[in-house]
Amino acid sequence: MVFLVVGRLVRVDVGGVILRYYVFGSSSPQILITAGIHGGEATGVYAARRLVEYLGRVESIEGSIVVVPVVNVLGFYARTRWCPLDMVDMNRVFPDGAGSVVTRSIVKKIWELASSSDYVLDLHCAGLDSYQYILSLYREFPRVREFVEDIAWDTVVESTGLRGQLFVEANHQGIPAAIIETGGGSGYYVEEWGEKLFETVSSTLVNLGFINGEEKKISKKYYGRLVGVQSSYEGFFKPSIRPGVDVVVGDVLGLVDGKPVESSTSGRLISLSSWMYIYSGGLVGRVAPRS
Ligand SMILES: [Zn+2]
Repeated sequence: MVFLVVGRLVRVDVGGVILRYYVFGSSSPQILITAGIHGGEATGVYAARRLVEYLGRVESIEGSIVVVPVVNVLGFYARTRWCPLDMVDMNRVFPDGAGSVVTRSIVKKIWELASSSDYVLDLHCAGLDSYQYILSLYREFPRVREFVEDIAWDTVVESTGLRGQLFVEANHQGIPAAIIETGGGSGYYVEEWGEKLFETVSSTLVNLGFINGEEKKISKKYYGRLVGVQSSYEGFFKPSIRPGVDVVVGDVLGLVDGKPVESSTSGRLISLSSWMYIYSGGLVGRVAPRS
């Protein structure tokens, strides 16, 4: 007979809105997995939902796994990055919160869950045409680098360390935390990336010892902070290559009204502003420089 781990659905009233999260297991260590802190970043929500379904079918869990599939509840329905009540970016106001009662209550609750966790993994989207990467302060915090080594994905980009972000504030509290950015955004999920992100997170849970399975250790490529590539021309941008490849200075990333836009940086092409009208000086993509 197989005994399944039954996840516990917790509903919390956050200023008249219901925040839902799932708890699997009851002992320590604990990992917090969050998605949809930016409401429009639906692929993270997709992966978190897949994870909830999957964890409901595993036989045993060491420690506990807390999953919040949609942090920014109203932003998710409105398909916006911000909470529509106050236009506050929730991932800039940890640990105290700001703006409306809803935003303050959600930030407070998420911070409470993060503070009692041993790891925090926050799922985001970097745009509809982007490659998946781990964003972390791997240089500044040795324990973050150890944590990142267990995340089952190859590309690691250094964060600017901007304060007020959930993972940055957790790092400063001594809790290893990172973001995984994947393809999607503006209220749309990309199923292919959603499945990859789900696999990345579930394998990471195996690597960290939360669930049984075959460890999937992936050797890493570490990159510096993202650098934007600007267009010198105005018009519609048409990409020539796809994110995920390594480029060198001078490589053509795409055309703006037939004129080439070249990379100003050598490193991994992370995202492109496809299907966009670009003004002169506008951003057509982001490259993570070789570190
Ligand atoms: Zn985000």
